[in-house]
Amino acid sequence: MNVSEARKRAEDESTEEVVMSLFDNIEKSELNAFITLAKENALKEARRVDRDGAKGALRGIPIALKDCISTKGIETTCGSKILKGYVPPYDAHVVERLRAEGAIIIGKTNMDEFAMGTSTETSHFGPVKNPYDLSRVAGGSSGGSAAAVAGEGVPIALGSDTGGSVRCPASFCGIVGLKPTYGLVSRYGLIAYANSLEQIGPFACNVEDVALLLDVIAGYDPRDSTSMDKKCEYTKELRDDVSDVKIGVPKEFFGEGIDEGVEKAVWDGIKILEDMGASYTDISLPHTRYSLAAYYIIAMSEASSNLARFDGLRYGLRLEKDEDWHTTFSEIRACGFGEEVKRRVLLGTYALSAGYYGKYYLKALKVRTLVKRDFDAALKDVDVLITPTMPFPAFKIGEKTDDPLALYLADVNTVPINLAGVPSISVPCGFVRDLPIGMQIIGRHFDEGRILRTAYTFEQRSGVSC
Ligand code: GLN
Repeated sequence: MNVSEARKRAEDESTEEVVMSLFDNIEKSELNAFITLAKENALKEARRVDRDGAKGALRGIPIALKDCISTKGIETTCGSKILKGYVPPYDAHVVERLRAEGAIIIGKTNMDEFAMGTSTETSHFGPVKNPYDLSRVAGGSSGGSAAAVAGEGVPIALGSDTGGSVRCPASFCGIVGLKPTYGLVSRYGLIAYANSLEQIGPFACNVEDVALLLDVIAGYDPRDSTSMDKKCEYTKELRDDVSDVKIGVPKEFFGEGIDEGVEKAVWDGIKILEDMGASYTDISLPHTRYSLAAYYIIAMSEASSNLARFDGLRYGLRLEKDEDWHTTFSEIRACGFGEEVKRRVLLGTYALSAGYYGKYYLKALKVRTLVKRDFDAALKDVDVLITPTMPFPAFKIGEKTDDPLALYLADVNTVPINLAGVPSISVPCGFVRDLPIGMQIIGRHFDEGRILRTAYTFEQRSGVSC
């Protein structure tokens, strides 16, 4: 159900009906998309909307939120056992904005533990299943949000994207997902995995609804020191026109490791835009091959520091009896964190340790600068870059769990974008072996308007949507 269908149904029947029918879908579903449902509050809110009417761009529209976004009064676990029972005392900035615009929060979605993953298989609450094939992953780490939209009729959802976590599940579930420019959306109240890389981003069935949600969540917030005052009205940018758009196709994002069917579908997509008047040139982003290594060093280093706050005293899980601080800290973390989180804390701590800091962390930061310069240079000559979002369609649940490196490699086309801080959208562009795949459109810093317009034009012409 998209936003206009939800609006129409609320008019014909009632907002309560719309919300009830969603809970019905979710409760019957096998996808495992939600960790917590906020049924009572959502229904109360829906009845209030029916009775008193509501104001705002998202009045009466149900939304699902990834479980790393703090919600006052609603349990927020980050997909981890260590945060079981943690109920935030405040709302994230984006949640304040959603409430102010009349959205109805229906629940918190399943995710990889602390957003560390590409398949939602590291969640303490079990994997999310792909709505197109229940034996396959929904992608990650925001797999629950994407599956809720693609398979349970939820009109809009939020995820977070540190190295692809909005775009990957959007691609695997056949919906639209956007990672905004670093600094466009406040991270206040987003439980941090790797602060210098991540942004909260919208999911929806179509580009228009993604733009609408971005209109609501983007904007300056003094509580996030990296927040920028660069917001536009994104829904106003949506025109069926790309005649002025110059596309660059970076060769490093095609070829080795990329499924042939995926490659073909993306090229067909580029051709559609060309037929609509866009021009394209082949370009090169030479430092792309170092992106994965740099990304994982930086992300794990930041994570090892961020996750130090989970000490068994302040949030969530507690020991049954009081112990000294050292015992509490190590016992809670030993039983509260999953294997992938422990691996990353260990590797990140190692990369930051005296003696190795220069060799790993500092070097990764230098590589990051080179990657960013590649994007800056390329985006001087062209307006957008187009690549496959993921190298392949959704894989089988369990297929890659014994091989963390194979899973990290799946992020090859998404992590360079986070290193550079530029915006990027994944839009459905076809099917390979009956599984949806996504085309990634990347833009200049704060040029969300243009990538949304390009995606919108493509969506009108391609006829592929969820
Ligand atoms: N798969 C990447 C990782 O595991 C990205 C995750 C994300 O964007 N949160 O770090």
